[in-house]
Parts: sequence; structure tokens; C-alpha cells
Amino acid sequence: MSEHLDDPPPPATAPAEGSEVDGAPRDLTRRQLEVLAWLIDHGAPFDPDQRVVEEADRARWRAQLTAVRAGRSCGCGTCPSIELVHPAALRAAGADGHPVVEGSTAGAVLLLFADGGDHLSYLELAPTGEQIFGELPHPGDLHPT
Ligand SMILES: [Zn+2]
Repeated sequence: MSEHLDDPPPPATAPAEGSEVDGAPRDLTRRQLEVLAWLIDHGAPFDPDQRVVEEADRARWRAQLTAVRAGRSCGCGTCPSIELVHPAALRAAGADGHPVVEGSTAGAVLLLFADGGDHLSYLELAPTGEQIFGELPHPGDLHPT
């Protein structure tokens, strides 16, 4: 009897800038670029993997920001996570990426993923509580974890 409660209601407003429309890669929004740049410059190496992140790694990821585009959004309705698409690769690598650096903000953890070829592949914001994040936080509200 509660089956309909599992269906998220349709969005009440038009999609925000940069959100899912038809799945075609789009330019990153200013906020997406700002948060990506922040994670690349200041994100902590992903701890559970005991990952080592050198300045050369950050420089390589930073150089991708001019080319990378926004792919599919998560679609869960509570987070602004997006796939990152490289036009040259013509695909999103979100499925086989791994977290490389992380950050946090009040109520959420942010993870930046790269694929096996070290292409940035996914930007994830994972709420840690009940708060719904309609968009990425301002970089001024981010902290290395
Ligand atoms: Zn989500």
C-alpha cells in the first residue's frame, strides 16, 4: 500500500542549469568547475585507498578541466553528482572510475573519481544525513577531509 511512496515526485520546477535534460554531454556549470578545481587543488588523497597524490597528479587533472564536460547526473533527486565526459574519449568512465581525492562540506562528502587511464570520470556529492543537495556547495564551504 505504500508502493507509490517510493516514487520520487516529478520536479516541480524547470531543471537547473547543468542538470539532466537528454543525457548529451553539456558544458560544466561555473559551480561545477569551481568545485572540481577546488577538489583537484585541495582535496585530500582518498584515504581508504591510502592513495598517494602527487603535485604532478593534480596538475594532470587540472589540465583536463578545459576539455571535460558534464555527462549524466546521478538522478537520485537528492544530490548533484555528475559523470564527467571527455569529448575525445566519447564516453563517461563513471562505472570503472575510482575515487582519487575527497573533500567535505556540512552534511556531505565529495569525491572526485578518475578512470584507469587517469581521466576524471565522476564528481560525487554524497549526503551524510537527510539534507537534499540541489546543487554543489560553494567552494568556500568545502574542506579537505
Ligand atoms: Zn544522487
